[in-house]
Amino acid sequence: MAEILVLVDHADGVVRKPALELLTLARRIGTPSAVVLGAGDKATEIAAKAAEFGAEKVYVADGTEFTDQLVVPKVDALTQIARANDAAAVLVTSSGEGKEVAARVALRLGSGIITDAVDLEAGVSGPVATQSVFAASFQVKSTVTRGAAVITVKPNAVAPQAAPAGGAVESVSVEFTGNAAAVTSRTARVSSGRPELTEAAIVVSGGRGVGAAEGFGVVEELADALGAAVGASRAAVDAGWYPHTNQVGQTGKQVSPQLYIAAGISGAIQHRAGMQTSKTIVAVNKDPEAPIFELVDYGVVGDLFTVLPQLTGEVKARKG
Ligand code: FAD
Repeated sequence: MAEILVLVDHADGVVRKPALELLTLARRIGTPSAVVLGAGDKATEIAAKAAEFGAEKVYVADGTEFTDQLVVPKVDALTQIARANDAAAVLVTSSGEGKEVAARVALRLGSGIITDAVDLEAGVSGPVATQSVFAASFQVKSTVTRGAAVITVKPNAVAPQAAPAGGAVESVSVEFTGNAAAVTSRTARVSSGRPELTEAAIVVSGGRGVGAAEGFGVVEELADALGAAVGASRAAVDAGWYPHTNQVGQTGKQVSPQLYIAAGISGAIQHRAGMQTSKTIVAVNKDPEAPIFELVDYGVVGDLFTVLPQLTGEVKARKG
């Protein structure tokens, strides 16, 4: 079976959920091997977790070069491991950093890249990736026809499923290129105590309808009751009510959670472009004609300052 490399994203010694999703998808298209970079003394734990989710092999490389923000050392490592093992595909999470890494790996391997895949399946001439395009109006299936297919996959594309495998650990010593420190990832990780927006299973977003920065209080309370991330429309961000790092949409982040709740958001095409692939969409809007209602699974016509606190109270009551 073809060897599929999976770059395992981890933080504070814990494997991030999207990496487990990649391992789950990798099993559909070949034999997964995990690549664990810069995990220090947590490498053994991380390798064990990767094995639990199907990694037959785990390539481990350590070094201070693999800090969170440096891109090129990760590119050096992935490229060298892919070449040495004749990997059929390299899977990376579709984060800002992941896409920087993946594009450079594809260039170095002289192959091709598919970004923001939402599904993967085995094809006759290699992995077939599904992308959702034009604000999720169409699905496109693509393959890479030359060399190892480098594919970035959106978080929440699949539910992670354990499938214990060998997990043989192989230490790799990476030859770093001279410009290792020259490129840093553009996306710094900001800790808010809530799940990362692009990885969260639930996102609660507020728009111009919240009326002011303080209006996000009801959005945050519902998000915290649900263990969700907070998103914002561009109108809310442009008004200075919420940080740009939380913007969802064409010029913000692309999210694809299990549940997306849009409060006081009209549903402009540019906002849809960032959330339309969410599995279940709920909107709360006082205008029954708001375009967001065209794409929702559940719509509530009402004032968000009445509906959201009720929902928060109900969620808390059910949690006990
Ligand atoms: P509005 O369109 O003003 O909608 C506010 C909604 O709140 C209304 O439907 C109203 O009925 C409802 N409302 C008001 N009060 C309440 C209440 N008390 N309770 C319930 N409902 C209430 N937008 C993005 O979001 N993300 C992007 O990445 C993005 N990129 C863009 C890129 C380009 C090049 C351009 C041109 C635009 C982009 N936009 C983006 C902007 C987009 O076109 C819309 O202007 C924006 O999404 C509108 O935000 P909104 O829905 O919050 O505001």
